[in-house]
Amino acid sequence: MAFLGTAARRGMACRKPLSPLCRATTRCYSSQSTHTTEKSDGISGPTKPLPKFADVVVIGGGSLGCQTLYHLCKLGMTNVVLLERDRLTTGTTWHTAGLLWQLRPSDTELELLAHTRNVISSELEEETGLETGWIQNGGLFIASNKQRLDEYKRLMSLGKAYGIESYVLSPAETKDLYPLMNVKDLYGTLYVPKDGTMDPAGTCTILSRAATARGATVIENCPVTGIQVKVDDLGVKRVKEVQTAYGTIQTPCVVNCAGVWATKLGKMAGVSVPLITMHHAYIVTERTKGIQNMPNVRDHDASVYLRLQGDTLSVGGYEHNPIFWDDVSDKFAFSLFDLDWDVFMQHIDGAVNRVPALEQTGIKSTVCGPESFTADHKPLMGEAPEVRGFFLGCGFNSAGMMLGGGCGKELAHWIIHGRPEKDMYGYDIRRFHHSLTNNNRWIRERSHESYTKNYSVVFPFDETFGQPQHEERPLPPGSVLQEQGCVFQERHGWERPGWFNRDGHAPVLDYDYYGAYDVPKNTDYKYREILGKEYTFDFPPHHDVICDECLTCRNAVAVFDMSYFGKFYLTGPDAKKAADWLFTADVNKAPGEDPCDVCLGGVESDLTVSRLEPSPAHLPLTPESNGEAYYLAIGGGVAQHNWSHIQAVLQDQGFRCTLIDHTEDMGMISSIQGHKSRVLKQTTVHSCTHTLSNFSSVRAMRLSFVGEMGWELHIPKESCQPVYHAVMAAGAKYDICNAGYRALEAQKAEGLKVPMFGLETIFRNSVPVGLMRSEFGFAIDKTVGYGYICNPDGGVVSPDFVRSGEFALERMGVTYKATAHLKSPFDPEDKRVKGIYG
Ligand SMILES: Cc1cc2nc3c(=O)[nH]c(=O)nc-3n(C[C@H](O)[C@H](O)[C@H](O)COP(=O)(O)OP(=O)(O)OC[C@H]3O[C@@H](n4cnc5c(N)ncnc54)[C@H](O)[C@@H]3O)c2cc1C
Repeated sequence: MAFLGTAARRGMACRKPLSPLCRATTRCYSSQSTHTTEKSDGISGPTKPLPKFADVVVIGGGSLGCQTLYHLCKLGMTNVVLLERDRLTTGTTWHTAGLLWQLRPSDTELELLAHTRNVISSELEEETGLETGWIQNGGLFIASNKQRLDEYKRLMSLGKAYGIESYVLSPAETKDLYPLMNVKDLYGTLYVPKDGTMDPAGTCTILSRAATARGATVIENCPVTGIQVKVDDLGVKRVKEVQTAYGTIQTPCVVNCAGVWATKLGKMAGVSVPLITMHHAYIVTERTKGIQNMPNVRDHDASVYLRLQGDTLSVGGYEHNPIFWDDVSDKFAFSLFDLDWDVFMQHIDGAVNRVPALEQTGIKSTVCGPESFTADHKPLMGEAPEVRGFFLGCGFNSAGMMLGGGCGKELAHWIIHGRPEKDMYGYDIRRFHHSLTNNNRWIRERSHESYTKNYSVVFPFDETFGQPQHEERPLPPGSVLQEQGCVFQERHGWERPGWFNRDGHAPVLDYDYYGAYDVPKNTDYKYREILGKEYTFDFPPHHDVICDECLTCRNAVAVFDMSYFGKFYLTGPDAKKAADWLFTADVNKAPGEDPCDVCLGGVESDLTVSRLEPSPAHLPLTPESNGEAYYLAIGGGVAQHNWSHIQAVLQDQGFRCTLIDHTEDMGMISSIQGHKSRVLKQTTVHSCTHTLSNFSSVRAMRLSFVGEMGWELHIPKESCQPVYHAVMAAGAKYDICNAGYRALEAQKAEGLKVPMFGLETIFRNSVPVGLMRSEFGFAIDKTVGYGYICNPDGGVVSPDFVRSGEFALERMGVTYKATAHLKSPFDPEDKRVKGIYG
């Protein structure tokens, strides 16, 4: 018999190594594998006739397609159609491992997972009387070091806010629970009794039956071959019809749930779908005595999981050298790839170490299939910015089974009501700048990095290693700031200063794939070392540096380069109407007056809007406008999201307006000032005027992100460096310093001297009532946080409710007393921002 350890080793020894390039680019699936069945042309035709019209056409009958269809029906839609090119689950879903873990380091994800669990463990059965195949065997996370256990404790505390039961176990307790486990090298474990395993076929079949019973039509054996887009009277692209070899369906809305084929479906409509396909695998062992009823295991440090399947285990994980599949085949149906033991072997070692009995256990089968991965390991959802009515539900990064229910529900809500119910920003396709969604290098590098780090500890501060992709940086302190030790943060392709390292500069080098695929690994990589020091749940070693940046900003003056901000103009005959519709504050102040800090409808965004004088074009600082015109400045990470939202409002309301993007033509220096501000402003203006005599002018706006009096300078790209130098020269006598986003965010928050970074559970009178977003307030030398709380009795959360409660915060299983403030503990009357110091 082929045993797990020995057979795999033997297999690897006889195998010819793959050429690294072959791995990094394309590798065809093999038709020799026992599982691989390449579908040929004998498709028998659609299982039902196609309707002429549908309100929504969902493309793809995997986890996401079935869940979305079901939830559309649950929200009351009936004229909805699902088209599947082969049979339901034929893509990735049929061979999923089906693990469902309830605890992840994100509050939104916890809620999404809880919904999936609820649908498959009770809702569907109540509705249809059929069992989905859900098995609640529990989940066990393994910690081999203190940091990992700290991470689990953090998850345990977070789970309390959602009523998720979990326990931190000692190695001995773990052994009692899981006798076959090697616990000698364990630090501890996290046990979540109500985790479990989903059955893909059972779940999708029942979802489709329930949807059909509510009026939906599910059509299999019907590949979509084209998506027609029309351009309406206002020049807006909208979905018109879905084409197949068997007829067309007129529809205003398609949902792309086509898994690894989603990029192809996107191309049919001119929509970029930024995902990449990789081989992802597990092996199934022969029977292992004593394994029945054990929980599923995730050994993050060994990058391996063990999933229970009756009396066998499935063993899988995440490698540093996964195989890319670039030529995604349309004929791949219920198919698998041959397993590459060179790649997979690392998981065997981890599995055998954790459950030594596996060394002598045979391998029954291997399961290696395609799965889509994205740049930040989060799905792609929502309406595509390019075409109205084209929705995405793809890019699930090996979590599409467990996220399927929650995401299907949000997607259905999004389609029907124009927005999801939950805060889905992290999954929204509009989080990516449009220049990135078809930037193959960026997608590939980031997706690889995210895949590789999937089982890494999720620390509060963790930046990527790759280069930002916006080569044309408006303020090239890319170079100027770097010389001064700037440690950058990357946000969706833009770079922005994080903090300034006193030990000199640390350039970001080209991404090295962690040395995989024979790419030479970066050596002497100072940037990597600096980031590595941040991998802690404690204060990082440069806490004092960030403290200095904060206090200099409070007590003297600091400069923040915020050039990554989006800079848009809203002009046209209906600009005023549009501004009144879009923004909550009154933006119709006199031109030149201070900008308004406003939000779009709901809380779509936090941005600043300034009204401009009618004037001839003097770009990039002034657009041509005869009537009203507004200048919008928006955080770079959310600029694409805001752009798409505003465009959608202009289109839906029929406002005759133009939105113009000048992000790449302008830089933005935010000079924040304390009590010396006025003097510095005079000097700077004088100095800048002098410096800029050969250039254009600068827009200066009174604004602050840190609760101090301050100005933002919006500057044409070519003038950025001279203005920056002028500001620094003028500020030298006031001890001006460079500062980064770490300082900026700490000052936004301004207790306790305990490191807290968010996701701590808030207790009122010992009852969990909410979650924290936390930071360290350097000016008051205490940890500060803010969070939404609820009244567990269903009553109003009034000031009295807050004042009358005794509050505590739980972090990593330890409870700390907390004081609730209804106003900021630092400068509660906002005097400083108004320039009142004293
Ligand atoms: C080895 C492995 C283990 C995994 N383990 C887990 C796990 O434990 N837990 C978990 O949550 N997730 C897991 N996943 C991930 C999960 O299986 C996927 O995220 C999920 O199945 C993706 O579902 P989907 O609906 O997006 O894609 P798919 O299941 O691939 O569905 C897409 C469908 O679109 C159809 N289609 C494509 N083109 C067309 C067209 N032109 N016209 C009509 N139809 C079309 C395809 O035929 C396919 O059926 C695992 C994945 C792998 C590979």
